[in-house]
Amino acid sequence: MARRQDCARILMYHGIVTEGAQALAAQLRYLVHHFKIVSLEAMVSRLENGSAPAANEVVLTFDDGLRNNLSVVYPILRQLQVPATFFVCPGLVEAGKWLWNHEVRCRLQTLAPPALAEVKTSLLATGTTVEGIVKWMKTLHLPQRREAEQIIRQATPGFQATSAQQIAFDIMNWEDVLSLDPNLITVGSHTMSHPILSTLTKEEIESELVESRHCLEQRLQRPAEFFCYPNGSYDARTYQAVKKIYRAAVTTESGVVDRRDSLDLHRLPRIPSAENAALTAWRLHRPEA
Ligand SMILES: [Zn+2]
Repeated sequence: MARRQDCARILMYHGIVTEGAQALAAQLRYLVHHFKIVSLEAMVSRLENGSAPAANEVVLTFDDGLRNNLSVVYPILRQLQVPATFFVCPGLVEAGKWLWNHEVRCRLQTLAPPALAEVKTSLLATGTTVEGIVKWMKTLHLPQRREAEQIIRQATPGFQATSAQQIAFDIMNWEDVLSLDPNLITVGSHTMSHPILSTLTKEEIESELVESRHCLEQRLQRPAEFFCYPNGSYDARTYQAVKKIYRAAVTTESGVVDRRDSLDLHRLPRIPSAENAALTAWRLHRPEA
């Protein structure tokens, strides 16, 4: 397969469940063999100096601070001695809470169709399916979204996460985050509690960005200078604030890091990973990426 030689790449992962460990290990061994895995810091420093992105360089990023990043991913990273960045929401770490969208989705999935329809009606939601309702909730302003979360909690009082859901969605606590070797794992901010930033006021955006950085730095006693937009959503206000507060930021926009004029350290594109190593390889190589 022809490989683009003039660009670097940032790969985006989320959670990896236990069954995915082997596939991830195989995928990372492939990457180690064919690419040079570097830290986000190393890539950003090079770009800040005005150098062209190094062909062949790959940065690994894992979003959301899920506990399986520690239990499943971290041992593989350590074994291969490859660096990665974990984007964590310190407000969720502090509270020991799931991402709101994970919780809402799992709760709604327990409802039979008539009960789901009833919840949909009391929410005045536009979506009818579970995914439709989650998608609709992502458009709400924070107070309304919290209200909707409450309605869903009240409609599912007996909800208990299954052990599979716990493995998929539990997030790390501070002890977990502190146990990550700082020479291997960069911890970046993913806001306090994963709100959709474009739905917030300017003041709320600033406080999510400032507080999350501050909280991570206090807890970890090292700089938290990189940021990841929750859901990949941002608007002009968010972008300006991120630019002021962070050294660099990653989006969910798909693309490679190349020397185009559009290269922007606060809007770095990423390549979504796939569990299937061949598909990830294809996404890394395809010239139009
Ligand atoms: Zn996220």
